Amino acid sequence: MNILVINAGSSSLKYQLLNPETQQVLAKGLCERIGIDGKFTYKPDGKQAIKEADVAMPTHSEAIQAVLNALVDPENGVIGSMKEIDAVGHRVVHGGEKFAKSVLITDEVMAAIEECNPLAPLHNPANIVGIKACQALMPDTPMVAVFDTAFHQTMPSVAYTYALPYEYYTQDKVRRYGFHGTSHKYVAGRAAAMLGKPIEELKLISCHLGNGSSITAIDGGKSVDTSMGFTPLAGLPMGTRSGDLDAGILEYLMKKHGYSIDEMLNILNKKSGVLGISGVSSDFRDLEAAAAEGNQQAKLALDSFDYNVKKLIGAYAAAMGGVDAIIFTAGVGENGPDTRANAVAGLEYMGVKLDAEKNNTRGKEVDVSADDAKVRVLVIPTNEELMIAMDTAALVKG
Ligand code: AMP
Repeated sequence: MNILVINAGSSSLKYQLLNPETQQVLAKGLCERIGIDGKFTYKPDGKQAIKEADVAMPTHSEAIQAVLNALVDPENGVIGSMKEIDAVGHRVVHGGEKFAKSVLITDEVMAAIEECNPLAPLHNPANIVGIKACQALMPDTPMVAVFDTAFHQTMPSVAYTYALPYEYYTQDKVRRYGFHGTSHKYVAGRAAAMLGKPIEELKLISCHLGNGSSITAIDGGKSVDTSMGFTPLAGLPMGTRSGDLDAGILEYLMKKHGYSIDEMLNILNKKSGVLGISGVSSDFRDLEAAAAEGNQQAKLALDSFDYNVKKLIGAYAAAMGGVDAIIFTAGVGENGPDTRANAVAGLEYMGVKLDAEKNNTRGKEVDVSADDAKVRVLVIPTNEELMIAMDTAALVKG
């Protein structure tokens, strides 16, 4: 079964054609600068990537047509015809409280996704444009929506309720939703496989640490708390996002510097996090290099990030009444031995103990804890596309 996975942004579109049973990626790539000057990248399995500039892509429709043309191209294509695409899985950022799992897309589902647009005004409309463009070009192919928020819909009300007047929840839907759900769900499933135990019997803390970062407490396979909130601005400090802060700071800085709300949010989303503290970069490799050369702000940015990861691990162990395994995933989690070591240093009292040699690994599925550790520490590369393809295939098969 071949599943085309589409992740549509406002001016870009990532795609992968993969077989969820064999896990083979037949081809993948990226359309960028849609509506501007169209850049197209296509990488068929086992062959060189093809990059084209100035491809006519006034809308997402031409971008998806370019993807389909490449997939069936006689020379570099990977399938004989579009009939070999059994279904399309679309990443959709926000499913609100309407979607607790992935769904086959119908007219009613499209209307319900559109109702979630105010909750993710930058992302959901772009996801919808991608779905509509695909539907127009492939009217007979089943489409599935896979939501970043769905996995977290199992959170109890104590975890998702903000201490605001309650009508902001009932009327305005202000609550913790959480994001990165597809990634947390995927690595939790892999962790259960690695530990050889049913997921229903495990308490897991999944640390998705990348440019955007979130941590999730997963009890018995269900998300019971997560660090991102109403928006992906909450929780850990990230590459450029502030993470949690005292809301009173907004008023203070806005009044002092005369910032508009848009200017303030731009600072919180684009100029804060480890970039803001360090003044160097949002990229952890740059920060590690700068810290090694003695840059104290870069060191503080890294230390502060690691400290906040540790604090949440402790919080979620408390929330679940224990933890069997801590998972590290995404760019930094998979490739940052120092971040992992610092984030769990001092947690020996909980039964966490790293094996320094095993922890010196990047981008592979490895148990990096000491043999006698009570709590396992697992490095698990995430694979959101595979998770989307697996969900899509399961729904299409019925
Ligand atoms: P992501 O958003 O998951 O793609 O993660 C991006 C982050 O992962 C960036 O901050 C990168 O610096 C970081 N990253 C990627 N590779 C490495 C590496 N080898 N060592 C440390 N950080 C890395």
